[in-house]
Amino acid sequence: MAYFPTDKFKEIATPFYYYDMALLRQTLQTVADLAEKFGCYVHYAVKANPNLKILTTVREYGIGVDCVSGGEIRAAVDAGFTGERIMFAGVGKTDAEIELALETNIRCFNVESLPELENINAIAARMNRMAHIAVRVNPNIDAHTHQYITTGLSENKFGIEVGELEEFVKKALSMKNVDLCGVHFHIGSQIRDDEPFVMLCKKVSEVLVLMEKAGALISIVDVGGGLGIDYDNPDGNPVPDFERYFKIFKDNLRLKPDQQLHFEPGRSIVGQCGSLITRVLYVKEGVSKKFAIVDAGMNDLLRPALYHAHHKIDTITSDSAVDDVYDVVGPVCESSDCFANDERLSLISRGDMLALRSAGAYGEAMASRYNCRPLPASVFSDGL
Ligand SMILES: *Cc1c(COP(=O)(O)O)cnc(C)c1O
Repeated sequence: MAYFPTDKFKEIATPFYYYDMALLRQTLQTVADLAEKFGCYVHYAVKANPNLKILTTVREYGIGVDCVSGGEIRAAVDAGFTGERIMFAGVGKTDAEIELALETNIRCFNVESLPELENINAIAARMNRMAHIAVRVNPNIDAHTHQYITTGLSENKFGIEVGELEEFVKKALSMKNVDLCGVHFHIGSQIRDDEPFVMLCKKVSEVLVLMEKAGALISIVDVGGGLGIDYDNPDGNPVPDFERYFKIFKDNLRLKPDQQLHFEPGRSIVGQCGSLITRVLYVKEGVSKKFAIVDAGMNDLLRPALYHAHHKIDTITSDSAVDDVYDVVGPVCESSDCFANDERLSLISRGDMLALRSAGAYGEAMASRYNCRPLPASVFSDGL
């Protein structure tokens, strides 16, 4: 089991996010080494966790950032990222966000529609700037074979259909203040099989041929993020298999020497280093169930309520050899505020602490103040 400094935890008000910085650094070092080995570029998806200390640590490893809002661009700048390390994606960029991105001299906008292209060109013209853009292509990968792919299907809000690319390129090439230099894809999240990525490579190759025919000079080939993590066994697989992941693209994509391969991993970088530490308030004996009522709720870790996700639960202050089966639930006034049903845990009682594992990605980032609950603190292993 992972090590948790429970003696020190006793002085900290629960719930709180705990980040194992040694694991984050090990993960980042792995990614940085492999990026060099494979000659690819990595932009961390800030939305997975925009915590300042995490962003600052990511920056130390020479990794860039992928932002999806003006707020994330500001967070990246606050963490010391320079414009050329920042990519900006998202279907609904406001004028103010586009202006901020241009002022920051970001590397590239990922453009998702024709009206957005026209707006970026108009704003860039007004500001007398050149906007570097990549077109986000909807790869239209079949959902029926891969249910976990949620963003790459046709007729969703993300990206441009392959059939409409030619027109997009024609328009972009006619505009004075945009420089079309990239293609961008993102097929979804928490993908743990190779196959969807192999299928993506096929689509990317087809699109690159199409782009060349249409007269676009593509230097950035951005294949997005989506590499999954092992939620069931975070200690067995603390660092995702980035080597295997990068290699799929190296083996299945033939790029020209002047074309850069870009990745945008979020979850796979920060997921395993974070845990939500919570205290058991009450153990309530139901008719046929035992409820462990904890002081963390769905507002602190939304994934179980939002996606029926399961986070492994470690009992970090009870090592009782006896175990029991619990429903682990939060205090928020919603039935969906439930972290686990029928979870087998060491016997726990009021005051025991639990670690909800693999909470580094889309945990703190999605926290809300629902029920007027305060936002949990962030605690770092190297700051204790
Ligand atoms: C969310 C997102 C990512 C990161 O996804 P992960 O599954 O966390 O790796 C990357 N690119 C885009 C465009 C995204 O929307």
